[in-house]
Amino acid sequence: MTSQPKGFDTLQIHAGARPDPATGARQTPIYQTTAYVFRDADHAAALFNLQEVGFIYSRLTNPTVAVLQERIATLEGGAGAVCCSSGHAAQIMALFPLMQPGCNIVVSTRLYGGTVTQFSQTIRRFGWSATFVDFDDLAAVEAAIDENTRAIFCESIANPGGYVTDLETIAGIANKVGLPLIVDNTSATPYLCRPIEYGATLVVHSTTKYLTGNGTVTGGCIVDSGAFDWSASDKFPSLSAPEPAYHGLKFHETFGPLAYTFHGIAIGLRDLGMTMNPQAAHYTLMGIETLSLRMQRHVENAVKVAAWLEQDPRVDFVTYAGLPSSPYHDRGLKVCPRGAGALFTFAVKGGYEACVKLVDSVEIFSHVANLGDTRSLIIHSASTTHRQLTEAQQVAAGAAPNVVRLSIGIEDADDLIADLDQALDRATA
Ligand SMILES: *Cc1c(COP(=O)(O)O)cnc(C)c1O
Repeated sequence: MTSQPKGFDTLQIHAGARPDPATGARQTPIYQTTAYVFRDADHAAALFNLQEVGFIYSRLTNPTVAVLQERIATLEGGAGAVCCSSGHAAQIMALFPLMQPGCNIVVSTRLYGGTVTQFSQTIRRFGWSATFVDFDDLAAVEAAIDENTRAIFCESIANPGGYVTDLETIAGIANKVGLPLIVDNTSATPYLCRPIEYGATLVVHSTTKYLTGNGTVTGGCIVDSGAFDWSASDKFPSLSAPEPAYHGLKFHETFGPLAYTFHGIAIGLRDLGMTMNPQAAHYTLMGIETLSLRMQRHVENAVKVAAWLEQDPRVDFVTYAGLPSSPYHDRGLKVCPRGAGALFTFAVKGGYEACVKLVDSVEIFSHVANLGDTRSLIIHSASTTHRQLTEAQQVAAGAAPNVVRLSIGIEDADDLIADLDQALDRATA
């Protein structure tokens, strides 16, 4: 093999994988096993002391999952990655090494709805809190950071669409105050955006979405850049100081750029147990092999469908950063030059009633609470995922009663347009 750096299309197929040493199997086997036989007592002791890397028990590590971890870390340009059971698990796992009771995170107001609930309600049970800020208001972001802040969190291309975060500028603020920036890169995928290149420390994924790509399994992943100095302050004792949960091991001193990743396995997965199973890792590895091809088509179709909707008299507006009319179009060209993803919202003339009729009238689009599938998906957030919110909260979340969200699949764009055309006729008749 040459030492020339490999391209994305090569890495999405080969990174982390090698023919199975036992059988020569070319495809990564599904290692459907809970435990691994130790060579002898010394080998077992070395593994438990983290002196030797190997497999002990599948709550911690599994060979199929390990291939996926290396593949996603490589595609994101990170030093290491830990996979877990879902995107929401990945967010808790990402914060766990950084936080203690009384600590807070500063987060963008433009987040996936489930993340808003997780951060505004559920993490408070751990004594953590989140301060929500408009990430276009840089002064407000800086003002929200206090001595108990341990991370800054945003999405690259924010679900439900239309918003792109200025990652380089936000990373600059995080760097200035010595905090890690965590970027949820689910909607963009590493094909469209690589947050570490803009200065992010950690990247989280719901692999449930585009990385798997076909709506089969839930999963999550946390990628570490390996570049953050956890010992520069006393804010991250679980990484920089002796960790009582691992007989006083100092993770940063011992593992350097892999400290965060080892912590995620040795303490995060060991004690939280949000483990990805090998079957899910297999489906996600299959999906990633075609990631670039799918993302190209997702973006191409999204641009066509969004442009068609924008000129349609039955539609009030379309929020998609891939359209020249979007206020985030130029930022999108900088942050994700290969395209602004394939998720967007549009407003239907006729409001709530017309939207409900629209989702009942589509034939190719599926009415589901998911995104990032090969299939095109539609949801009316105000009557489903955002139902519990007041109308003002719905509007603030980009889920006003007259707005429908699309996740554009990789079918023929003309068929998708024809389907929306007939459904809009019925919805606005
Ligand atoms: C789906 C999603 C999540 C949550 O992931 P799950 O795998 O459903 O737990 C988090 N962030 C974004 C942007 C998502 O789309």
